Amino acid sequence: MAFTAERIYWHEGADRAPDTAGRPPAKVDVAIVGAGYTGLSAALHLARAGRSVAVFDAEAVGFGASSRNGGMIGPGLHKLGISGLINAYGEDRAVALLREGLNAVDHLVQFVAAENIACDLALVGRFRGARTDTQYDALLRECDWLRDRIGLPSYPVPRAEQRSEIGSDFYRGGVVYERDGGVHPRKMLLGLAARALEAGAQIVAPCAVTGIEQGGARKLLHTTGGKVEAREVVLATNGYSDRRSAALNRRVVPLETGACTVGPLSPEQMADLSPKGRMHGESGRVFMWYRPTPDGRSFIFGGRFGAGNVSPAARERAYRRAICRVYPQLSDAPISHVWSGLIAMTADHSPHFGHFDGIWMAGGYNGSGVTRSLYFGTKLARRMLGEADAETAFDSLPFKPVPLRTLAPWGAGMLVRWYQMQDDRELRARQ
Ligand SMILES: Cc1cc2nc3c(=O)[nH]c(=O)nc-3n(C[C@H](O)[C@H](O)[C@H](O)COP(=O)(O)OP(=O)(O)OC[C@H]3O[C@@H](n4cnc5c(N)ncnc54)[C@H](O)[C@@H]3O)c2cc1C
Repeated sequence: MAFTAERIYWHEGADRAPDTAGRPPAKVDVAIVGAGYTGLSAALHLARAGRSVAVFDAEAVGFGASSRNGGMIGPGLHKLGISGLINAYGEDRAVALLREGLNAVDHLVQFVAAENIACDLALVGRFRGARTDTQYDALLRECDWLRDRIGLPSYPVPRAEQRSEIGSDFYRGGVVYERDGGVHPRKMLLGLAARALEAGAQIVAPCAVTGIEQGGARKLLHTTGGKVEAREVVLATNGYSDRRSAALNRRVVPLETGACTVGPLSPEQMADLSPKGRMHGESGRVFMWYRPTPDGRSFIFGGRFGAGNVSPAARERAYRRAICRVYPQLSDAPISHVWSGLIAMTADHSPHFGHFDGIWMAGGYNGSGVTRSLYFGTKLARRMLGEADAETAFDSLPFKPVPLRTLAPWGAGMLVRWYQMQDDRELRARQ
């Protein structure tokens, strides 16, 4: 797997993971591959409906992106952008797809409250800075459209007022999205795992699923702990998909991305960086996201800067350059943690869930999966149970295998580099 083992900020200070060592059951109703948000939320719903469920993870529970992400939640919009979505699907469908993002936020907020999961959920809003004047104008148009058509609460912040949002003059103004916020991702993962276990699901980790035989009424899973018969199988491996989860793997392209923590910082420094303690993002093709940690003592920065099979030290240098472009005042601040993880891109930039090649699956969150995976995992379980309220606007989008899949990671890497060059050119051209 293309990731480097490093120091993950979220693993420090969070509760211990539950004891998931043990032998897999010989037979279950549903076997789920992958113990992240997708797999565990599906497991919880299925177990509460009385199904026997076993969730397998090749590593520890929550080993994948669900314990490594930025914890930034929100409607997620869409990688195609609004005009791209309208061009691809027409305006009505674009509206329906974007509304799903708001539904997913509502679902997360209600879920965390109903399940009493202590994960530092705070809907503090997100300030998205525009790197150029043209991008600011585009953000304004988008902001109006989103407010009018899907009811997304958002408002513009002109350049002259942006110091009220961010301790930086780098941007040409920006937009605040009020329905965005943050969680402590590892706490959310462990809370979800605890509820799934209480509901009767079994989590077996570390235990890799090495092959899936289909054909008869029941499927046979080969695992490193022995064989398991299951009536249904769910693939919830997202960016960690490989040939062992082939049906999902041929539909997504895993990409490495990373994050680092800067701190500890003084209360004055924290207030300077983000006066309102918001989540942060920016316009552009290859962008950086950043946020204060829930304890208000450090800042986390992430993105595809320097990611891609390089040493943590090389990645730290790339992060430092990207961070100092926005916050020159952090040129000497200590970087305490650097880590990376895998996300899953899809050919149409949309997430998907459903039944394909005889197997249930959900994934392809394109890097915005904290809110979506919880939502899609639950929708998938509802669909499997034949329950009402299993539909989403994404159902009508076909989940096609990625063309030239074996070359796709190389192609995606080249595309990111090309996008970075275009971003740099636009930055150099601004006055
Ligand atoms: C650095 C980083 C920052 C991110 N920041 C954000 C953010 O701020 N906001 C946001 O919305 N999204 C973010 N994301 C994306 C988000 O974290 C993911 O979309 C989401 O966690 C996916 O959850 P999942 O359960 O589908 O997959 P994962 O959590 O990745 O879980 C997949 C699991 O499958 C297991 N697995 C794989 N193969 C097998 C096998 N054969 N047998 C058994 N187990 C197997 C893996 O070990 C892994 O634990 C970020 C991702 C990364 C990497």
